[in-house]
Amino acid sequence: MTAPHALELRGLHKSFDRTEILRGVDLQLREGERCALIGPNGAGKSSLFNLISGRYRADAGSVLLHGADITRLPPQGINRLGLARSFQISSLFPRLSAFENVRCAVLGKLGYRYAFWRPIGRLRDAEERAHAVLARVGLAGRGHLPAGALSYADQRALEVAVTIAADASVILLDETTAGMNRAESQAMVALIREVTAGKTLLLVEHDMQVVFDLADRIAVMDNGRVIACDSAANIRANPEVQRLYLNRSGHG
Ligand code: ADP
Ligand code: MG
Repeated sequence: MTAPHALELRGLHKSFDRTEILRGVDLQLREGERCALIGPNGAGKSSLFNLISGRYRADAGSVLLHGADITRLPPQGINRLGLARSFQISSLFPRLSAFENVRCAVLGKLGYRYAFWRPIGRLRDAEERAHAVLARVGLAGRGHLPAGALSYADQRALEVAVTIAADASVILLDETTAGMNRAESQAMVALIREVTAGKTLLLVEHDMQVVFDLADRIAVMDNGRVIACDSAANIRANPEVQRLYLNRSGHG
């Protein structure tokens, strides 16, 4: 028997007010694979993340996480089964410290695993884990600062910390390098590679340098569908993808 995919999307549909945003999305990620999701603005990439992570409810189709059907689960339930995502728009609590932001994310996961009669031990474990995660993203010395006081690049690193805090096996990152200069995005690529080692990664990314540096495979989304998913070389040579990228502006 072959192992189930880490993440499998089957025929996902989603409409808002009779407008079809997702029009039958199929995608399969192998365990440990890094896949970049690219496509023009409005293609449906963030909506797809909302649907996978349980924020949106699919009208049709299914989402399987390590073979288990998570299509109808709420976001917390999906998170506890090992899927975590970052948001395109910052989801940090700006007045809480960087450390507190990470601790919140750790506690959200530990809450399930640990018995309620061990609150002190649970908090201590969460704090140790939060310190370790902050150190992994290079923010060990800045944990006491309010998240909103960090530099832009450090805030994005903190978002990565929050996303990996609960030790998910499948991680979705939405435009983590947006607005970064070349040096910052190179540092972010190294960080993402390091903290997602051995995990399955799906990342929405507009910077093609980042895509080529990080991704094993590239999925191209257009108009609510994944139109191709292949190696970088095959994606470059794909006539449908070429047409899409020649005919439009404002994409990445
Ligand atoms: P991308 O991330 O690829 O740029 P989005 O998923 O953000 O694309 O958006 C795809 C389309 O879905 C857009 O036309 C957007 O306006 C629409 N959309 C996304 N979320 C909603 C919502 N909650 N209500 C109505 N329309 C939405
Ligand atoms: Mg988006």
